[in-house]
Amino acid sequence: MKQKIQRFMAGRYGADQLGQMYMGISMVFLVISFFSRWNIFYALALALLGYTYYRMLSRQIEKRYQENQKFLNWRYQMAVKKNKRRERFAQRKIYHFYKCPSCKQKVRVPKGKGKICITCPKCKTEFIKKS
Ligand SMILES: [Zn+2]
Repeated sequence: MKQKIQRFMAGRYGADQLGQMYMGISMVFLVISFFSRWNIFYALALALLGYTYYRMLSRQIEKRYQENQKFLNWRYQMAVKKNKRRERFAQRKIYHFYKCPSCKQKVRVPKGKGKICITCPKCKTEFIKKS
């Protein structure tokens, strides 16, 4: 039996992080559908589960690999953003954060210095803000 499964899975993609996330989401949908009257969640859970298995059994390994890489990149970017947000939140009492009007670079300035002229470190644009 184990050999049969191994032979069946040979050349197929298998599980990855994206698949795990899809599984998790479909489980959440299933739980919601158990406690609510919305059949849409049940349908969504089944569809997502079906898609997850389709990916696992897929023979287009390169394509699935690219999908997973995209997902991992996205997850990493989210983690970086979350960290930045947390950092800014921790500094909110001492610093003001402004966006450069021309290049959108975020600039940190100390609070409580009155009106100041800020020079963007990236594009050298000057703009005046209250600190
Ligand atoms: Zn700028």
